[in-house]
Amino acid sequence: LQQAVQEAVNRYVARNPRSAAAADDAARAMPGGNTRSSLFHRPFPLRMAQGAGCRLRDVDGHDYIDLLGEFTSGIAGHSPEPILTAIRDALADGINLSAHNMLEARLAAGLCARFPSIDLIRFANSGTEANLMALATARAFTGRHKVVVFENAYHGGLLAFGPGGLRVAVPHDYAILPYNDKDAAESYFARHGAEVAAVLVEPMLGAGGCVPGDPEFLSLLARLARHHEAILIFDEVQTSRLSAGGRQALLGMTPDMTTIGKYFGGGLAFGAFGGRADLMAQYDPRQAGALMHAGTFNNNTLAMAAGLAALEHVVTPDALDRINALGDAMRGSLNALFAEQGAPFHVTGLGSIMNIHPVPATGAEAGLLRDLIFFDLLERGFFIASRGLIALSVPIGPAEMSAFADAVRDILIARRGVL
Ligand code: PLP
Repeated sequence: LQQAVQEAVNRYVARNPRSAAAADDAARAMPGGNTRSSLFHRPFPLRMAQGAGCRLRDVDGHDYIDLLGEFTSGIAGHSPEPILTAIRDALADGINLSAHNMLEARLAAGLCARFPSIDLIRFANSGTEANLMALATARAFTGRHKVVVFENAYHGGLLAFGPGGLRVAVPHDYAILPYNDKDAAESYFARHGAEVAAVLVEPMLGAGGCVPGDPEFLSLLARLARHHEAILIFDEVQTSRLSAGGRQALLGMTPDMTTIGKYFGGGLAFGAFGGRADLMAQYDPRQAGALMHAGTFNNNTLAMAAGLAALEHVVTPDALDRINALGDAMRGSLNALFAEQGAPFHVTGLGSIMNIHPVPATGAEAGLLRDLIFFDLLERGFFIASRGLIALSVPIGPAEMSAFADAVRDILIARRGVL
């Protein structure tokens, strides 16, 4: 296995001289040539030159079907016409206007209409910022300090609770509980419920490996939060794409607050936090003593325009239903294929988001298996995350899906001796 991976890496290096040179160059001005940790993998990540629809071309001229979809945020695909037109129109009217514009309230209304848990909403520039603001909102409202989060949760670069995250996490009085563990949640609340300001939870661990939240676990959190008057915050930055109203609609749940981001900015930097009117009213500047939430680019015209176009024309309820059904079918057929071939992989996730995992899940062998499938897929023209994440986008159809299934089958057959 180790030798097979080394040979695949050698072919990758030989095939990608421009990406290799660009990575060396970048390391002169950025640590490890990197400004976004999740993009890094050894020996160096590719540089992409162009994207159109669900296709990418790298700087060495290779074409790929983009199954990564910008780590879930590229749901609209690369530069769809309605979003390009909206950005061009906004550009023509001037980038940012020292004032409110006529787009922000329309985007806010559209998002409130999609998520019944969001009575009122405010915009930010990233999902990280949206989650930081949601926590601040809960703390201010409750006057309490403790924040319940979960192992391997990812709520942004400054709110990451997996390996490597905690050392840069913004300091709060965290309780980091095991995900999907009802007993642990119950016993924590029995001891500390009265001190808890917020429970911040992803309805499916995203960066933590596409681990769906158990519906019973999530509704227990809602009951505990309600009973102890803590604020339940659903981080739906990824899972809001699982239906028009996010995973909360699928579960029939109404969290006190919801955070979103990614695709709702139409591909531009974006985040938003919203929820119950009484919580969000703390920011009403007409009230004496209103909480501060400033931000130069909170209503930046390009993101507002792109987000509105995405919401109205691209990330429509029908389009979401279609790619989620495609994803469910794909996960089913990949798992059937792995079982049929006796291959040491399995796929987790929900709808259009999934993660291929090696079996065993940790250790040196896991790393090699992850690398083998990643480099073999690249060589066959399929771009996924090196950690195995796949996020479907609207331009992807059955033809791309069956080409991908064929490629995976070819790989498993070709690698039978080493798997
Ligand atoms: N929350 C979740 C569930 C995410 O997956 C992410 C990003 O991947 C974030 C928050 C942070 O969003 P951003 O990268 O826009 O700060």
